[in-house]
Amino acid sequence: MDIVHIDNLSKNYGKVHALKQVSFSIPAGTVFGILGPNGSGKTTLLGIVMDVLKPNSGGIRLFGEKPSELHRKQIGTLLETPNFYHYLSGEENLRISAAIKGRGEMDIDKVLQTVDLLKRKKSPFSTYSLGMKQRLAIAAALLGDPEVLVFDEPTNGLDPVGIAEIRELIKKLSLQGKTIIMASHLLDEVEKVCTHVAILKQGVLVACGDVNEILVNEDIVEIASSDIGALKNIFSNYPGSPAINLSDNIIKLSFPAGKANLQDINRFSFDNGMVLTYLNLKKKSLESKFFELTN
Ligand code: ATP
Repeated sequence: MDIVHIDNLSKNYGKVHALKQVSFSIPAGTVFGILGPNGSGKTTLLGIVMDVLKPNSGGIRLFGEKPSELHRKQIGTLLETPNFYHYLSGEENLRISAAIKGRGEMDIDKVLQTVDLLKRKKSPFSTYSLGMKQRLAIAAALLGDPEVLVFDEPTNGLDPVGIAEIRELIKKLSLQGKTIIMASHLLDEVEKVCTHVAILKQGVLVACGDVNEILVNEDIVEIASSDIGALKNIFSNYPGSPAINLSDNIIKLSFPAGKANLQDINRFSFDNGMVLTYLNLKKKSLESKFFELTN
């Protein structure tokens, strides 16, 4: 089942087109990353899903149905840094969050345990590290045991240790069966924790799907010879049929990461009567793939 179905969504802020006819679905049980540079429309999209913002056109479905308050009650959110009271303890702050949400009063110890703050529950919020503060915010989102969690930039401002803690927490929640939707501009973070990804660029969806298919690492082998046309023909029969691109009199062969064998390529060319004048392996990183998609 799809938890969220986004259908042809557009949103303008005056002249700024924050989302342009965006459509995709978020399947149940995924850790779904919404990835894109600053200003690409991630927060706007999450705002529409949570009914904080209205789209100009298009719409969404939640749990396969027309969205209602009841559906949104099954979604725990961390959309912006919550305003906790500095002089109150973590536990007291969660009691207030539960009262505001009208759910989860009985869950407080359980959610504190999940985010590893049970031992510090009596300490004032002001004594918490940034990472602990963020984990408390996630604990607040977990009150009432929602099936779905929506996090906007959950690791913003954290140090590497804090980021790793949130990553482990997200993995743990996913193993418990939660569907997690998170916006991030950090490719690395998305790659490490997400099963699926949608990539936005200036409000346009440029890629969407399984993270291993979208953010695949590739080996690119560049080759050239005195007769580039003939070389291209020869390599159209290369075993495994790598994608072939020709530019500036260089042929680029794309292989899955680790699958390019320079000796085999050289031998294949020679056996087919062509001597290479150039042979070079380039590893295509996730980062370059991301920049290719978003630049
Ligand atoms: P960031 O990573 O910086 O949070 P984002 O991908 O979440 O970015 P949005 O915050 O959704 O992107 O913004 C998308 C575009 O809409 C940006 O150009 C932004 O400046 C613009 N925008 C967002 N909110 C408003 C608003 N209230 N009024 C005018 N423009 C806005």
